[in-house]
Amino acid sequence: LPVVAIVGRPNVGKSTLVNRILGRREAVVEDVPGVTRDRVSYRASWSGRDFTVVDTGGWEPDAKGMHQAIARQAELAMATADVIVLVVDATVGATSTDEAVARVLRRSKTPVVLAANKIDSDKAEAEAAALWSLGLGEPYPVSAAHGRGAGDLLDEILKVLPTTTQVVPRLDGPRRVALVGKPNVGKSSLLNKLSGTDRSVVDNVAGTTVDPVDELIELGGRPWQFIDTAGLRRKVRTASGHEYYASLRTRSALEAAEVAILLIDASQPITEQDLRVLSLIIETGRALVIAFNKWDLVDEDRRYQLDKEIDRELARVPWAQRVNISAMTGRAVQKLVPALDTALDSWDKRISTGRLNNWLKEVIAANPPPLRGGRQPRVMFATQAATRPPTFVLFTTGFLEAGYRRFLERRLREEFNFDGSPVRVNVRVRD
Ligand code: GDP
Repeated sequence: LPVVAIVGRPNVGKSTLVNRILGRREAVVEDVPGVTRDRVSYRASWSGRDFTVVDTGGWEPDAKGMHQAIARQAELAMATADVIVLVVDATVGATSTDEAVARVLRRSKTPVVLAANKIDSDKAEAEAAALWSLGLGEPYPVSAAHGRGAGDLLDEILKVLPTTTQVVPRLDGPRRVALVGKPNVGKSSLLNKLSGTDRSVVDNVAGTTVDPVDELIELGGRPWQFIDTAGLRRKVRTASGHEYYASLRTRSALEAAEVAILLIDASQPITEQDLRVLSLIIETGRALVIAFNKWDLVDEDRRYQLDKEIDRELARVPWAQRVNISAMTGRAVQKLVPALDTALDSWDKRISTGRLNNWLKEVIAANPPPLRGGRQPRVMFATQAATRPPTFVLFTTGFLEAGYRRFLERRLREEFNFDGSPVRVNVRVRD
């Protein structure tokens, strides 16, 4: 989903405006640093368009260094959001902090909408007009607290909101790949290697270049659509909230993709951050290739360690395709293509109901489900309800233990080969 970031100094009414956009009245998010993710990002919808609203209120610093902190907040939004809404308290007018933010935002290639907040009456509208001085175009008068003008503001936001890659799977055209992984794992290096051009990193903060969101890259003689490479080619300096924004982008890239290449730095221990990205991939149900990068730095000792880490940390995805590469030297990067193909074949695979049930009968005859409360649940029938990823439904007469479900999934994988793809097995109990 496209991202709308709400920026502005403390107490101008950002959180109230967010609640207004979400169309609800519940308590405002506290302005404390380190608030959890779900409290700062929300799914919103207006006139039939869905988008994510990010309330940057959570990252506000104390008064010390306010200018700088807010300028950073704005830069971060410029590098990562699709629309920025700058909220100013019109009853106070443009403060020097507002001016500092506006200076940053005037360079923005990301559209900026100026919200003149706390305009509670017609009479107060003149105060909004004074904010033309910020050089960000027309100020939109709103009263976040009372709702006045909120519709017009939202209409304006939608006008400048880009239509992003649709999540809807498309069977024709190039396959869609999300290149994901923690910062500094080598995503942009790999992208450069694959696209064959060693482009220098775009300094987004200076607003020099407009990158297309996605890129077509030819691999193995075919074009592949790499999702949101603009986000990868940009270098966002470390700032509070950076990681949060990055995970938001990762999620939307995954949602737009069919297959993920998860980059892991093979030269370093696998970290929490790697596992968080992995969790996002699992949640979105994408096919998966894990590329262990920086293989040029891996010696025998490290290799041994890594094997142990993989057993321990990546046990959730024994089915993932794996390749060992070096984005720097180019080692084995061509192996990504067969790995992607295998993963996508599995992801798209459909097993006919006849084959599936023949197999099921045999497995169950040899290994009947364990008794539950003295009764033997019967597995009557299975069907593949969906592909992308393959999703199966088992109809039973009783609850199946998790262990037995895992057993069936394992056997299903062995029989039909879903390498590189998650498989979902749902159980429907019929009375
Ligand atoms: P990103 O944040 O994931 O896009 O990571 P970058 O592509 O910017 O890479 C981070 C750092 O790791 C840079 O200094 C790269 O030169 C370095 N790097 C990336 N891939 C490799 C690799 O395969 N081997 C080595 N030795 N260094 C690498």
